[in-house]
Amino acid sequence: MDNFMNLTISAKSGNEAFARSVVAAFTAPLNPTVDEINDIKTAVSEAVTNCIVHAYGRDESGIIGIDAKIQGNTVHIAISDKGVGIKDIMQARQPFFTTKSEDEERSGLGFTVMETFMDSLIVEPNGEQGVVVTMTKAINHAED
Ligand code: ATP
Ligand code: MG
Repeated sequence: MDNFMNLTISAKSGNEAFARSVVAAFTAPLNPTVDEINDIKTAVSEAVTNCIVHAYGRDESGIIGIDAKIQGNTVHIAISDKGVGIKDIMQARQPFFTTKSEDEERSGLGFTVMETFMDSLIVEPNGEQGVVVTMTKAINHAED
């Protein structure tokens, strides 16, 4: 392993920008393009928002884990919670699937965005409780 970081944050919406900036800064040594860094920031934001909104139902005492590592030119990012969990992960990953009503402004596209902007996406139970979302992205301009 070339490098790693672990971060634990409160499930506060104000921490979302912090989390995505930390992961972006951690990835910077791979010399990503602006597009690549924006893809990573967007994917991290979607995952963290899901923890805040769905896992903990906006209970700010919840805890979110952000783990990242760099191996070669690839960044691996794991975002985890100990919240309510997802009953049917296959269904949750479908485009436009959401458990929130329309007035809550959720479009059901968070997982679709993560999948589109990153190279891989795994969604699985976090042990006994909660969810862990693992994403990877190869940065192809490392030597530029
Ligand atoms: P959007 O992301 O477009 O605002 P959304 O959050 O509903 O809408 P997704 O991010 O694709 O859409 O998530 C789909 C569904 O998966 C959610 O509606 C929710 O039911 C469930 N989900 C996602 N992440 C979690 C999580 N960390 N814990 C519990 N449930 C989750
Ligand atoms: Mg979402």
